[in-house]
Amino acid sequence: MTDCANCIAASERAWHGFTTGCMVCAARRISRGPACAFAAQVGYITPEYRAELYAVAGDVHWQAMHELVRACNRGDQPTWPR
Ligand SMILES: [Zn+2]
Repeated sequence: MTDCANCIAASERAWHGFTTGCMVCAARRISRGPACAFAAQVGYITPEYRAELYAVAGDVHWQAMHELVRACNRGDQPTWPR
């Protein structure tokens, strides 16, 4: 469960709000962006898409961020481990 108002809203209905600093919001934002759409289309992690993952998660966690973005694209309501 989350205490992020935008994540709660997004779990209940189509929602466009994102909270700065919330990893799940960041994943949801990236999952809807053109870089992610293009990466999914070509079937690999493009430099542009990876740069977006890096920007929010850094070089340690960008792959976990990628999994979070994938979960968002599946329509899951993922949580970021704290
Ligand atoms: Zn959130």
